[in-house]
Amino acid sequence: MRDLEAEDFILRIQGRIDGLLEAAGEVWIEEIKTVQGGWNGEARPLHWAQAKLYGAIQAHDRGLEQIDLQLTYLDLDTEQIAEFRQRFAAAELELFFTETTAIYLDWLRELQAWRRRRDDSIRALGFPFPAYRPGQRQLAVAAYRALTTGRRLFLEAPTGIGKTISVLFPAVKTLAQGTFERLFYLTARTVGRAVAEQAFTDLRGAGLRLRTLTLTAKEKICRQAGQPCDPAVCPLALGYYDRLQPALRAALAREAITRATLEELGQQHQVCPFELSLDLSLWVDAVVCDYNYVFDPKVWLRRHFAEAGGAYAFLVDEAHNLVDRAREMFSAELTIQEILDVRRALQAPLPRCARALGKLITALRQLHGPDLEGTETSSTLPEPDLFDREGRAAATLQRAKNSKLSNLRRTASRPWAPPSTPRSRKPRPGWRAISRPPSATNCSDSFSACTRSAARSSCMTSDTPPS
Ligand code: SF4
Repeated sequence: MRDLEAEDFILRIQGRIDGLLEAAGEVWIEEIKTVQGGWNGEARPLHWAQAKLYGAIQAHDRGLEQIDLQLTYLDLDTEQIAEFRQRFAAAELELFFTETTAIYLDWLRELQAWRRRRDDSIRALGFPFPAYRPGQRQLAVAAYRALTTGRRLFLEAPTGIGKTISVLFPAVKTLAQGTFERLFYLTARTVGRAVAEQAFTDLRGAGLRLRTLTLTAKEKICRQAGQPCDPAVCPLALGYYDRLQPALRAALAREAITRATLEELGQQHQVCPFELSLDLSLWVDAVVCDYNYVFDPKVWLRRHFAEAGGAYAFLVDEAHNLVDRAREMFSAELTIQEILDVRRALQAPLPRCARALGKLITALRQLHGPDLEGTETSSTLPEPDLFDREGRAAATLQRAKNSKLSNLRRTASRPWAPPSTPRSRKPRPGWRAISRPPSATNCSDSFSACTRSAARSSCMTSDTPPS
């Protein structure tokens, strides 16, 4: 961790180093990444950037003149490990640290200036219609009190009295008080999103300056319709970060960032509109989106909610729908056909697993009776997702880390020498890669944080609510 004092900001840069070893007066930092599905075997510049920031912090704190950085890639398909190691001078790392944080500070200064303009407009903002309808003022007052005192409020009112504006108006007002950093307006239906967008338009008509973003499901906003979402080949994902900055600036200049805006900017700047919307969500004042982006454990916006402490207000439209949606989010569906397919695939490489699946099929048939016979019959089981990639990846990574740790302890005392080519290890005897189609399952929080393939290193199906 390092605090950087700059004019009116103190910028705290912190992260979690995967490995930090000291031996014979030298310090060695290791960053471990997991990859899957078509990794090209090369270390990624973004991962070097992460390691260099850690290196700069450590070199600064320890007064080192140089430091060794290592990127270790674990291929989840083959369980092969590749290591890339490089020695850096502290002065080089310090320059990189300063240049990188300067870019971020520029963004923060712009954000601060924007928030001053926004807050001035909010303080001058009145209700956007000549008069309240019956009941609207009571709703607005109740919502304002709940938001400013940190309580939950359940509202019930007849259709057509203007609930959305009655709740959004006080919520926007609280933004200027600094109570919240961002509003999330959650709705289950497209029409609900349109109503919220119209309410923001009405508020803008009364003088409000506010950056709002509407998130749209990936399969609806994708510009490569009919193609599998593979960031390793999609032209809108390849080199995405090289084109991101102008696209972000163009979007933030619009203030109302809707699906149409994202599609237009995606086309204009040749960036994936879905990924752009996720990146923009960090810079806007209000997000209109499906419930899933907040509540679904597989789809939620990790960049906002992975760590506790965000100052967010949640306005949930038609909250009674949450009961059914929560059942969908927290249930898993497993069909007999899927188990049969997996058993068949495992027959040769993992016969013991295949036998265990055979027992599972028998048990299910006994449990459900003859209705379950035949390969087309399905059964919904209240079990965790047996095919959870993240869980599997975490378990594999943990195994790899354990074995790496003991390996590192053994090698820490050896003098360091730069390898000319990346070292790789052969798969463990008895293991064989099982080929899989390109992923189309839920994962974490978009390709920006993922490392699973060469170009953008992950599928981008995360953050996608069901259509
Ligand atoms: S990266 Fe995926 S979602 Fe984005 S444009 Fe390409 S195919 Fe569509």
